[in-house]
Amino acid sequence: MSHDERYCTAPVHFDAVVVDGHCDTLLDCLRSGRTLRERSSSGHLDLPRMKEGGVDCQFFACYIEGSYKPDRGLKRALQMIDRFHTEIRAAGDMAVFATNYAKIMSAVESGKAAAVLTIEGGECLDTDVSNVRIMKQLGVLAIGLTWNERNMIADGVGEERTGGRLTNFGVEVVQEMNRSGIIVDVSHLSEAGFWDVMEVSQKPIIASHSNAKAVCNHRRNLTDEQLIALAKNGGVTGMNFAKDFVAQEDADLAGVIRHIEHICALIGPDHTGLGSDFDGIGEAPRGLEDVTKMPAITKELERLGYCEENIRKILGGNFLRVIKEVVC
Ligand SMILES: [Zn+2]
Repeated sequence: MSHDERYCTAPVHFDAVVVDGHCDTLLDCLRSGRTLRERSSSGHLDLPRMKEGGVDCQFFACYIEGSYKPDRGLKRALQMIDRFHTEIRAAGDMAVFATNYAKIMSAVESGKAAAVLTIEGGECLDTDVSNVRIMKQLGVLAIGLTWNERNMIADGVGEERTGGRLTNFGVEVVQEMNRSGIIVDVSHLSEAGFWDVMEVSQKPIIASHSNAKAVCNHRRNLTDEQLIALAKNGGVTGMNFAKDFVAQEDADLAGVIRHIEHICALIGPDHTGLGSDFDGIGEAPRGLEDVTKMPAITKELERLGYCEENIRKILGGNFLRVIKEVVC
């Protein structure tokens, strides 16, 4: 097989278990009326396009919109969870609701998409830590503690000025998530809150959709110090395709790769993955217009000389490691 053919077919990509740690497709389905089951000309992601793009496991976030905060977050989370189940049921043989490592792997082995349920916004817990256990019973695999604003758990990056850390309730939430086997997601959390989580969490955490601040200075990205701490914690950060988080100007595939390169150079290949934020980012970068373009990342990593083992880690192995370790 010639070099060129190898790049065209990207066999590593379609053989690897590819995991995407974040999308907002559920909200897009709710708003537009499109479904996961049908290939759509709108939005970035659906099950047929995931198949084409070789994405095996997708985290589907239930994003709590501002109009539901602070007091109707739990209600909205339940509505979103219901929509998730409706979509997965309607998908028939195409997708499986996967709540842990074993279920993800068995879905992938049977050629089905592993659909993972996550929540973006700790408002889903209201003010009661017992809701962590209820979310576990509902099959939630990860919860983002905040969005950009303040909530009962912590401050988001939009509240950076106050320097707020975790509240007492926030500490209880992280401890209960550790005990219950739900992954703590620090994307959107303020830096002070991040450092608090690092002290409190006994388990690896994720930043499901955050890039490197050293490459693109945006408040949603992680500093080198944060990335080093993330590595020590055993966690993973998923590369976000939002143009503003990728590059100051002219965001494209190469820009996303620059974040991966920086993180691998800084903390090695074990702590980065994909967290596209598809359907939550407006226009996607050039070369990554929708989920069908995912193989382009693999081709680029191959071209840059990444070995197969490291490519598999970045494509999904790192997220799978954390899931295996944290989620019972
Ligand atoms: Zn987000």
